Amino acid sequence: MNFTLLLAAGLLLAGPLAAETFPKDDLVVARELREAALAGDGGYEIVADLTTRIGPRLAGSEADARAVEWAVKMFEEMGFDRVWTEPATFPTWHRGLERTEIVSPAHHELVTLALGFSPATPEGGIEAEVAMFDDLAALEAADESEVADRIVFIRNRMERTRTGAGYGRAVGARSVGSRVAEEKGALALVIRSIGTSNNRFAHTGMQRFDSDVRLLPAVAISNPDADLLERLMGGDEPVRIQVEVDAETVESYTSQNVIAEITGAEKPEEIVALGAHLDSWDVGTGAIDDGAGVAIVTEAARLIHELEQRPDRSIRVILFAAEEIGLWGGRAWAEARAEDIEDYQLVAESDFGAGEIYAISARVRDEAWPMIEAIQAELEPLGIELGRRQASGGPDFSPARPLGVAAVDLHQDGTEYFDYHHTVNDTLDKIEPEALKQNAAAYAVLAWLGAQSPVSFGSGETILAEEAEAEGGD
Ligand SMILES: [Zn+2]
Repeated sequence: MNFTLLLAAGLLLAGPLAAETFPKDDLVVARELREAALAGDGGYEIVADLTTRIGPRLAGSEADARAVEWAVKMFEEMGFDRVWTEPATFPTWHRGLERTEIVSPAHHELVTLALGFSPATPEGGIEAEVAMFDDLAALEAADESEVADRIVFIRNRMERTRTGAGYGRAVGARSVGSRVAEEKGALALVIRSIGTSNNRFAHTGMQRFDSDVRLLPAVAISNPDADLLERLMGGDEPVRIQVEVDAETVESYTSQNVIAEITGAEKPEEIVALGAHLDSWDVGTGAIDDGAGVAIVTEAARLIHELEQRPDRSIRVILFAAEEIGLWGGRAWAEARAEDIEDYQLVAESDFGAGEIYAISARVRDEAWPMIEAIQAELEPLGIELGRRQASGGPDFSPARPLGVAAVDLHQDGTEYFDYHHTVNDTLDKIEPEALKQNAAAYAVLAWLGAQSPVSFGSGETILAEEAEAEGGD
């Protein structure tokens, strides 16, 4: 079958003559939920409490364990029908001292954060001449003689975009720069922060980590410090810097995904799952990443739980463990779902800060696309447009993608997200309460209508078969 034709058929079905649509009563409830969310606090109290009483909660830290307890207690106090945890085991890392100094031809101390899983340097640090590269591709193309025994500096700038696409284009320098530099004999890696702020703080983040790959000591410097280093590199004299990192990698730690459920009245074994991640980086207080997401999806489910009637299907909130250091909670969740992914009607994670949602995209079976259009119609008053017929469901649901999970992306405006992302400046004041309410309203409508849909969204074989046909089709 031709995919374009299918798409056209889907669009036609969405008209007033559509065979299947939501019962009127369910739409009335969706509107009530939307209004209730806008009249509430959007979950602001939840994120205020998490960031104030727990604060930064790097996976595997003592605060991670306290955050798990906090989440279980919160869900129990809200009176969800079931609250439980599922384990996720992963390697983790603790930050110690970190320092980057330009030692010649001028002396400057640069504002620095080590990157996740950076090994320690010898005490006193490593000093060497700097080899500068425009981006990861330039480093990959470089001859060993340009790299060996140097400290590599990758200077690529992240571009500010509403969708966050600039992050994807720049982040390779951070995620694999160290291993590429190591293979060519470099001594350490320094990157321009992967972030859009011109403030003098650095943005930390994950490096792709496998126990069989050797990483170099690796740090990010603030964007104004990267500007300064670039200016010196433009001169005639060689530039020497010193990098010192003290950090510790921990082989194995077990944390928990925390799950709360509103049990469905008609089809309790079928589930709509809303996600966010409970862990954060160890700097800042994890407010926009991802305390905001925790607040948004919890508030959305709480509003549904407060209704007099129960949803037909079950609704779950999943607060994932250890997203920042490698999607470990999401991977554990997907592994455990290999046999029963068909039960998951629809999944969606909130993990892109606290900006307003502007579009809804979805990966669902063809027959269910009109339901997504009908959901969008209820989101329209919130300023949310129809997006693409494609969705990941967010980082923690992405490991379930190969299983064919039906997923929705509610796209948030990310224009300012990367000013604060993974920095000391990711704090509660960056959350705009009105935008948080809009997010909670959208997730409440999505979860409710997802649970009431007369058409199944096709998780598993149905979606995989349709995608295979579309790809292989003429
Ligand atoms: Zn996040």
